[in-house]
Amino acid sequence: MPHWIRAVAASSDSNPFQSVLDFFQSPAWHFVILMFYFLLVVLWIACAYWVFKDARRRVDDKIILAVCVLTGIVFGPLGLIVYAIVRPPELLADRREQELEVQMMEQRLGEESRCSFCKTPVRDDYLVCPTCGRRLRTTCASCGKPIEPSWRVCPYCETDVHGTMPPVSVYDRA
Ligand SMILES: [Zn+2]
Ligand SMILES: [Zn+2]
Repeated sequence: MPHWIRAVAASSDSNPFQSVLDFFQSPAWHFVILMFYFLLVVLWIACAYWVFKDARRRVDDKIILAVCVLTGIVFGPLGLIVYAIVRPPELLADRREQELEVQMMEQRLGEESRCSFCKTPVRDDYLVCPTCGRRLRTTCASCGKPIEPSWRVCPYCETDVHGTMPPVSVYDRA
């Protein structure tokens, strides 16, 4: 308390500020101060915990995770704001799911576009494999479109194609 306030307070018993000064020295005011510090500590811990919880779901690297958590502990609410700005935009679970999806798509594409015998990349409309000469598809006798050996009916012109073409390579018989 500045000395001039004390001087004013001491100069007169009928000081209008006396009740205010009394309040600032009362246990009630100390309790308010205590509560303020308590809330600050709770807020600090909550910020650090939130950073830890969020970083664990976004950061794979243990060292970076430790740096994030330390930032939250040391800088509290300020650290939380900084972390919220620089944190990785997507969750680890989402990233893994995306990677898995891409992997599955690549696998599917790989299966569809390769010769089943020699694994040469082939296009959907190839009739025979250009490398090993195996027959991949036959053509419809009616419309000439490439069709799979296992199909019974041509999907383009509805002609019955079952058994009309041998499902083996012409090069095999030579
Ligand atoms: Zn082949
Ligand atoms: Zn056809």
